[in-house]
Amino acid sequence: MYRKTLTAILAAGLAVSSGILPAEAGNNAPNEQSDHAFDNKVIKKVDSENMYEHIEVLAQQPREAGTDGEWQGVQYIKEQFESYGYETEIQPFEFNKGFERGTSSISLNSEEFSGDVHTFTGSVNSEAEAPLVYVGLASEEEVDEEVDGKIALIERGQIPFYNKIQNVLDKGAVGVIMFNGEGNTGNQFGTAYEGQDIPAVAITREGGLELVERLAAEDVIATVSVEGAGYITGTSHNVIAKKAPHPNKDNGQIVMVGAHHDSVSAGPGANDDASGVAAVLELARVMANIPTDTELRFATYGAEEKGLVGSYHYAGSLSDEEADNIVGHFQLDMVGSRDAGELIMFTPDGEKNLVTDYGSAAGARVSETVPYGQLGRSDHVPFFERGIPAALFIHAPLEPWYHGPEDTIDKISKEKLQDVGEIVGAAVYQIARPDTPALENANVAPGPVEYDFDDRPL
Ligand SMILES: [Zn+2]
Repeated sequence: MYRKTLTAILAAGLAVSSGILPAEAGNNAPNEQSDHAFDNKVIKKVDSENMYEHIEVLAQQPREAGTDGEWQGVQYIKEQFESYGYETEIQPFEFNKGFERGTSSISLNSEEFSGDVHTFTGSVNSEAEAPLVYVGLASEEEVDEEVDGKIALIERGQIPFYNKIQNVLDKGAVGVIMFNGEGNTGNQFGTAYEGQDIPAVAITREGGLELVERLAAEDVIATVSVEGAGYITGTSHNVIAKKAPHPNKDNGQIVMVGAHHDSVSAGPGANDDASGVAAVLELARVMANIPTDTELRFATYGAEEKGLVGSYHYAGSLSDEEADNIVGHFQLDMVGSRDAGELIMFTPDGEKNLVTDYGSAAGARVSETVPYGQLGRSDHVPFFERGIPAALFIHAPLEPWYHGPEDTIDKISKEKLQDVGEIVGAAVYQIARPDTPALENANVAPGPVEYDFDDRPL
């Protein structure tokens, strides 16, 4: 589970609708007896002991993207998939591992600035020499043509760094010196974004206020210089395992089940997300020898915690035809904590889709109807953005150990693993088994259920 809220996804506003369910759930209330028989082929084989053992191996150490810990996890996952007979691929990709700040400096009327100068994350390497002009908080209203060809002195606060830099850049500024906002100490802050190609540096609030005063009294020619800065790239990996459908029954469709294998650096990520990986592996094992009319594709992604980098890479590598053929992506992230809340299915737009329809119906058969809600922040997002029905299965609210050193195996509940494994297994199998064209065929398959939107916080 990635921490930063991805508001951009909501802004994209893509609509996904399931399209295969009848408008009314009708009287297809699940029948315990026959429905269990329908699901037994999968759910009777799902064994939380196996999942627990995977977590034990994976959560021996942190698996931060690009580290040896992640690579060991990747190899373990690949070995497991291969031992079940899957055609397995490791897909490498690059991500921004960090930012090397290099050296930055300011001079004022040819004298070196006495305070500490901090390079903005993402600042370009360059030097600008020009008159210094104070533009307050650099809101659109405050910035005018006066800044053209000059270096902008900006106060931190109220609007994002991105907007501040963009507002002065749009009016022709050649450099940025930003001082800290009210109540903030130090000068370790600031991010410049791609395309904002002027040197950008941060100084303390005291240093900045002195400069504001000085500018009121005299003209200042400033030099801002950033040298030796740049992103450091790391390599992370996705693991993709495929099983072809029965050759005589191939309907051309693909169903995907995913999790992320990387963790944060702070802890071993037993629940986040070794639990999801363990469920993916167990479902792959259970379904390895069951004939299906749909291709099964199991994936574990890297660098989820760095901003969903692995899943964006994988979703971006799909051809349009392949993306069209993927009927659903089930994302399992944090599915085993004894200290978290109940199971919920999140979609980025807060709308139901094919995955939530099947998930809720399977939940009703296995244990309880699963509600849905709205959230991005995991690997379902890039698939959703490609128009693929996708949902995140997670327990909410989150446990207190989230992203900490105590996200360890002793907090894992085998009951929760079992429940999620059975529900997702039953849902995926209902899509993939050869005798079910769709949920609405109630003669062959259990029908849909009514399920509710739950505005539950994480
Ligand atoms: Zn996380």
